[in-house]
Amino acid sequence: MINLENISFDHCIKCTVCTAYCPVARVTHLYPGPKQSGPDTERLRIKNPNLLDESLKYCNNCKRCEIACPSDVKIADIIQNAKWKYSPKKFRLRDMLLSHTDLTGRIATFAGPVFNFFTRLFPVKRLLDFFLNISSKKTLPEYARGTFHHWFNSCRSTQEDYDTRVVYFHGCYVNYNDHELGKDVLCVLNAMNIGVTLTNEKCCGVPLIANSFLSKARRNAAYNIKSLEKSIGGTNRKVVVSSSSCTFALKHEYPNLLEMDTSTISSHIEYITSYICKQFLQKNIPDMKPLNLTAAYHSPCHLERMGGVIYSVEVLKRIPGLELKLLHSECCGISGTYGFKKEFEQIAQDIGNDLFRQIKSLQPDIVITDCETCKWQIEMNTPYEVLHPVSVIARALSGNKFDLTV
Ligand code: SF4
Ligand code: SF4
Repeated sequence: MINLENISFDHCIKCTVCTAYCPVARVTHLYPGPKQSGPDTERLRIKNPNLLDESLKYCNNCKRCEIACPSDVKIADIIQNAKWKYSPKKFRLRDMLLSHTDLTGRIATFAGPVFNFFTRLFPVKRLLDFFLNISSKKTLPEYARGTFHHWFNSCRSTQEDYDTRVVYFHGCYVNYNDHELGKDVLCVLNAMNIGVTLTNEKCCGVPLIANSFLSKARRNAAYNIKSLEKSIGGTNRKVVVSSSSCTFALKHEYPNLLEMDTSTISSHIEYITSYICKQFLQKNIPDMKPLNLTAAYHSPCHLERMGGVIYSVEVLKRIPGLELKLLHSECCGISGTYGFKKEFEQIAQDIGNDLFRQIKSLQPDIVITDCETCKWQIEMNTPYEVLHPVSVIARALSGNKFDLTV
């Protein structure tokens, strides 16, 4: 059954602004753009689902069309819904492996460096390309040894001493790939006299949604909502999230796309730089030493959709000695798992090329972005290290007294 309230296609005024903003329609004639694939054909699909257009698969769910739309049409949601409801259901092992991040994360973190070594070998890349259609031009992300959740047990008791505590939704990326970012979140919040508690969490569902594993995405959402409700426990405790895409899923994809009731948790969820920025405004600013670096900042699409870029920029502007250069707003192309798929790899590259050129022409010392998959795409296409804004603050903290590395 189609939820007419959510899809909102009748509000379209045919201005085509969304198509001008769509990064996929800009680089390939295979995709007609959000207006045609979204509100225009939704009317026809409702009458006759056989009218499904094969080109829908090219939409990478970046949401830039929704940022541009003056009528607040949920264009990307319409397209995503159409893919789920009307596309023929085909099981693909590749899509399962790329989207079930808890499963692959557990296996990969158990193997740790061995997994990283093998996935970087050219013959292995060729095999993945040939048998699974995972582009050999891409490098799969590195995995840590063990999980962040397990590491946190070693410092859990130190977090209980703080009067103010937040729940930290770390997401799969911190749990399986980048423990350092999770440690940086602890360092920075502790330096502001704020303790951290973790909740039991599953993948937020972003890759499951993108790969049409809808039932699994809903099960994960139900689990996360229940777990966060328990951690909040009827208090006004905040839930901070260090991934912009996880934040977007918890706040927007759960109610709009998955049709889950998030009323008990939604007002508690906050992207980490928004939370830090508000603390800074209340004069809760940690001591920071000058960094003396030039940084190029890239704003991820989902953070732009939430209106959250301003917080990251404001927080970064408070770091002494950081010369911040804002890059033009562009999609990097990777869109989670999209750019790893052989059939979309060239489109993802073509989308990102302008951004890579901008970064190279600025010659910064570092690049900063809030999204882990933007980081992978930029690091694969430029020679620069890409850091999360919280990691940059952690580097500026004076002294090592909050260094929780073990
Ligand atoms: S979500 Fe992104 S790729 Fe899809 S139609 Fe909108 S702008 Fe284009
Ligand atoms: S921007 Fe919005 S109103 Fe304009 S064509 Fe696209 S969906 Fe319709």
